[in-house]
Amino acid sequence: NSNRQDRDKECNVQVLLRCRPLSDDEQKSNVPSVVSCNEQKREVTVMQTLANKQVERVFTFDKVFGPKAQQRSIYDQAVVPIVNEVLDGFNCTIFAYGQTGTGKTYTMEGGMRKKGGDLPGEAGVIPRAVRQIFDMLEAQNADYSMKVTFLELYNEEITDLLAPEDNSRPTEEKQKKSINLMEDGKGCVFVRGLEEESVYSVNEIYALLERGASKRRTADTLLNKRSSRSHSVFTITVYVKETVIGDEELIKCGKLNLVDLAGSENILRSGAREGRAREAGEINKSLLTLGRVINALVEHSPHVPYRDSKLTRILRDSLGGKTKTCIIATISPTAYCLEETLSTLDYASRAK
Ligand code: ADP
Ligand code: MG
Repeated sequence: NSNRQDRDKECNVQVLLRCRPLSDDEQKSNVPSVVSCNEQKREVTVMQTLANKQVERVFTFDKVFGPKAQQRSIYDQAVVPIVNEVLDGFNCTIFAYGQTGTGKTYTMEGGMRKKGGDLPGEAGVIPRAVRQIFDMLEAQNADYSMKVTFLELYNEEITDLLAPEDNSRPTEEKQKKSINLMEDGKGCVFVRGLEEESVYSVNEIYALLERGASKRRTADTLLNKRSSRSHSVFTITVYVKETVIGDEELIKCGKLNLVDLAGSENILRSGAREGRAREAGEINKSLLTLGRVINALVEHSPHVPYRDSKLTRILRDSLGGKTKTCIIATISPTAYCLEETLSTLDYASRAK
């Protein structure tokens, strides 16, 4: 059955589209909305005025989530199957891709945690995934352990978002303590010097996530708009003891990468001037390379250019092969964002 084969081929890279609602301010000032979403038909329609004519452009994705879609429904429909793969011992990656201000961080992190520890309705993909992983392993009464890393990639330089604050050293020196990508003999990449935290409970992971996210926000305040130009990668590695054969233990290991990408508007800024040029160029490099890697994977191309950027080197063992990748592309419904919205829709539909 060729239909079945097509589906099997396709399903390693899923592309979802999420359109955020108009904000209160946008509603108050009657900002026009130019995007409409049809979740049943999995279509997004953009109204564009070209030479005084209304033109409609329609894009189709694996799933479409309109402005009313709840965090929970995105998680249940898009992420649950991926987390199941991770628990089966596969490496998977979920990306949030889109213009700054369209809901990447809201989708990935969302509202974190209520005092009592319950997940709020606003909780995003990361806290929900963490909760699902723990719940399922506990329900299976599994013998497991879990490690978490959280890093930021800015200017092709890696910052450890979980590194303990060392106040005894001057800020400059702290920032210089760099983390390197190393390769072992087999071409596997690992990040040297990264804090790897073993975690034993949902609350511990939340605490780490909050620590890292607040570090990212602080850096953002120090350097305006830094987070719109940086990528963050939250990685959960799960080890589950399977069976013991004789005196050998079989350990199943799966990894989940949750990536909040730099704002996609950066991809267009290759012409930025002087001081900014290098920075814009470097961000271009990781975002552009990611696009190329995903295209190569989707097209089953023999050469996948993992080596061309740090982001794709870090994620190498979780992209391609038996892994599953999910791209959540986020857009704004407003007329003001039209150009960026079209560019996100183009990029995301090319990833298919
Ligand atoms: P990004 O990370 O892409 O720059 P944010 O996640 O910071 O964007 O979102 C920008 C603003 O819009 C935030 O105030 C966020 O809470 C709000 N927002 C984004 N998506 C949604 C959504 N689906 N529902 C409600 N509010 C949202
Ligand atoms: Mg953000």
